[in-house]
Amino acid sequence: MSNVHVLPPLPFADNALDPVISANTLSFHYGKHHKAYVDNLNKLVAGTELADLSLEQVIAATVGRADKAGIFNNAAQIWNHTFYWNSLTPKGGGEPPAALKQKIEASFGTVEACKQELATAATTQFGSGWAWLALDGDKLKVVKTANANVPLTEGMKTLLVIDVWEHAYYLDYQNRRADYVSAVLDRLINWGFAENNLG
Ligand code: MN
Repeated sequence: MSNVHVLPPLPFADNALDPVISANTLSFHYGKHHKAYVDNLNKLVAGTELADLSLEQVIAATVGRADKAGIFNNAAQIWNHTFYWNSLTPKGGGEPPAALKQKIEASFGTVEACKQELATAATTQFGSGWAWLALDGDKLKVVKTANANVPLTEGMKTLLVIDVWEHAYYLDYQNRRADYVSAVLDRLINWGFAENNLG
């Protein structure tokens, strides 16, 4: 039996992030891009030894393998996008919950410094990629990855992510990636999700 990968439902209505991220952007980003990664992965693994693996298992089995790059890219992009939607919430931003705030202050000094580091990573990632808040051992870190890459594969636990592929912001912000990133950090970032991921 083949394990069919599915497009998970968005955790909010498609106009719930407006005006920071418009329903128009979501209709393409979720409805076309995210969906295409799911459709592509299902086609690529059908009938192969990867067909019965979970999404995480497919990622682990293909990371760093040049002959499996297409499968890795689609699988990791499914995972990354699902994680990104959960990293956003319509009434986000503001102060992180207490346990996360304490951890942020221990690692960055202040919440503002953490947000600044995330914004810098997001705006300086050259080309397509992702800016992550991750737990590395006992310390929080900001990490950027290119294309589909995910710090999971380097042993870090991811807490939240910002998508900085142009398709994430171009319809709403054109070339102004920094404006998209700062609006997301101030108004949509889901600190509660990040705290839950501390485990
Ligand atoms: Mn994307």
